[in-house]
Amino acid sequence: MRTRRESIIKLLREHDDITLQELADLTQTAVKTIARDLDSVRKTIKSEGLRIEVRPAKCMACEYLFTGRNRVSDPTKCPECHSERIDPQRFRLAETKQRE
Ligand SMILES: [Zn+2]
Repeated sequence: MRTRRESIIKLLREHDDITLQELADLTQTAVKTIARDLDSVRKTIKSEGLRIEVRPAKCMACEYLFTGRNRVSDPTKCPECHSERIDPQRFRLAETKQRE
């Protein structure tokens, strides 16, 4: 049987980019749980020479980029223009720079 974290890695492999919400829907798990899982997945795949690349969330109104966020959660409101139309962050698997 596959664990939820293994499923997340599989989904990351299968999609070019995927949002927290999509991961949550596809694994039928709460977004909050997925966010926590991603932190441990990150450590797991490190030994395989992989990392999770994050494309930051973006405000659709003023194009403000939510960079440098430590938390995995999705922002809900733009600090610049207070719009709530936020294009969520997207995740994908990438190889770490050091190759064998
Ligand atoms: Zn904005």
